[in-house]
Amino acid sequence: MNFTVAIDGPAAAGKGTISRAVAQRFGFAHLDTGALYRAVGVKAEGQGLDPAAAARSLTAEDLEREDLRTLEAGQAASRVAVIPEVRAALLDFQREFARRAGGAVLDGRDIGTVICPGAEVKLFVTASPEVRARRRWLELGGEAAPKPYEAVLAEVLERDDRDMNRADAPLKPAADALILDTSEMSVEAAVAAAVAAIEAALGPDR
Ligand code: C5P
Repeated sequence: MNFTVAIDGPAAAGKGTISRAVAQRFGFAHLDTGALYRAVGVKAEGQGLDPAAAARSLTAEDLEREDLRTLEAGQAASRVAVIPEVRAALLDFQREFARRAGGAVLDGRDIGTVICPGAEVKLFVTASPEVRARRRWLELGGEAAPKPYEAVLAEVLERDDRDMNRADAPLKPAADALILDTSEMSVEAAVAAAVAAIEAALGPDR
């Protein structure tokens, strides 16, 4: 069975949590496409490589680096993600993953719009910038975080601006995406809404 779930949205909206939960629930494979851009950003900026060359030579080892989840890696990712050659180099891998047998969930920014416009289910998971910055800040340790909340909010806004206003594959909901605003929704409620959308698309035979 080929069945693709596309989950897009801005940083720290809850895409990762929802993606992992539905992948587990339905037995689908999951690809965090942000990790690809993070790995390219860290590799290119760390080794002084041309970002497109870094994207074309990406290895499994690059994706296993422990520093990919940092705020700096997120910023590096969004800088290289504006480069069309970087996006083109990562396209085939993502499309092949999406059509693998047994179903796949991909989360990112352009999955429902560019990578898999024919995905069976499209979700756009969002939340206010303040809520997303607070979640990220708490993840980083809250009062013990290396940065104050205001600095995390500034980074969230900067990344949103870069992701939404780039020319190639900007962050926006697909016309047929279900919008989930998680600003005031529990994780359980957001996952339940995603599960319901997938069950509706799978139909009663499953
Ligand atoms: O989702 P995550 O925060 O890991 O993404 C890091 C950055 O990678 C994003 O801010 C965005 O610039 C870029 N990205 C993208 N397209 C995707 C996934 C991530 O441009 N499909």
